[in-house]
Amino acid sequence: MRFLSIVTGLALAAAGSLPLALAAPQGAGSDVEIAVTSPAQQQAPGYYRFKLGELTITVLSDGTAAIPWDEILKGMSPEEIQATFEKVGETTRRDTSINAFLIDTGSRRILIDAGAGALFGACCGRLPTVLQQAGYPAETIDAVLLTHVHGDHSGGLTVAGERVFPNADIYLSQAEYDYWMSDDERARAGESHKKMFAEGRAALAPYEAAGRLHFFTGETALFPEITAIPAPGHTPGHSFYRIASQGQHVLVVGDIIHAAEVQFARPDVTADFDADPAQARATRERTLAELAETHELIAAEHVTFPGLGHVTQNGSGYQWTAQPYQGRITKAAK
Ligand SMILES: [Zn+2]
Repeated sequence: MRFLSIVTGLALAAAGSLPLALAAPQGAGSDVEIAVTSPAQQQAPGYYRFKLGELTITVLSDGTAAIPWDEILKGMSPEEIQATFEKVGETTRRDTSINAFLIDTGSRRILIDAGAGALFGACCGRLPTVLQQAGYPAETIDAVLLTHVHGDHSGGLTVAGERVFPNADIYLSQAEYDYWMSDDERARAGESHKKMFAEGRAALAPYEAAGRLHFFTGETALFPEITAIPAPGHTPGHSFYRIASQGQHVLVVGDIIHAAEVQFARPDVTADFDADPAQARATRERTLAELAETHELIAAEHVTFPGLGHVTQNGSGYQWTAQPYQGRITKAAK
C-alpha cells in the first residue's frame, strides 16, 4: 500500500511537468499501463546485490522509461538507428533503465545518484521504496554522490521541496554545480534544456540551505573506498566513481552509455542531451578503449538493470557482456 500511495503521489506531482533529459515525451510508445489493484500486478522491487571486497553494493532500479532513441541519438540517421535496434530484436522505444548504486561500507551508506523523484511521473521515482525494501530506508543514507545534475540522477534528491535524504551530505563536482547555477549558461541553453536548470537548482536547494552540499575538483578520493573521476562532455562536471576494496574495483560510468544497442558498437554516436557532444564522444571513446584493455567491471546507469558487465573490443567498436546473474551473494576468495 505504501508503494501505491507513493506512485500515486508522484504521478500527481508530475502532472503538468514535462519530462526532460532522459525522459519520454508524453504519448511516446503504445504501451497501456495496467491498473494496479493487487501486488501481483506490479513489478517486483528492483535491487541486486554483490560483494566487492569488504563492501556490499546494491544496484537499485528507480524505474524504466520509454525513450525515443531514433529522435534522441545523433550521428546516425533515424533509419539506421531503427535498423540497429531491429537487428537485435528490439525497438527504439524499448524501456531504458534508470539505475542507482548503494555502497554499504559497514560504517557508511553511500548512494550514487538519486533517480528521477517526481520529475518523470509514475514510470520512475521508485528509489526510496526500493531502498526501503533493500534494507536501507532513505533517512539512513549518509551521502549521495551525483554523477551529474540531470532529472534522472538528481531529481530524486528532492520531492515537493523536501529533502528525500534528510541525513545525507551531497557530493558533486564544482564544475557541475557552477554550470547549473550560472544564469549565463542558462541563457545560452536551448529552449528544451532551460527547464533542466530550474529542476537542477530545485533538487540541490534544500541541501544547500542545510549546509549539506560538498564540491570536488579533479580526481578526488571522497571516501577511502570511492574516488571521483572527471568525465566531462555529457555535462561539464559529469563524473565517474571508482569503488575499490581489497584489490577489487568497479567503475560507475554515469551517462557514458545511453543506448547500449548503438553506442558500444558506435561510440561516436551522441545524444541530444549531451551538453558538449564532441567532448562526450571523446570521453566515451577514451573510456571504452581503457575498459576493454583493463576488463574492469562496469556499473552503468542506463544499461538494462542491473547494468553490470564488461566491454571487449569488437572491430572498430566494443561489445557489452552482462555479468552473469548470481543468485548467491559471495565474496571472492583472497
Ligand atoms: Zn541519465
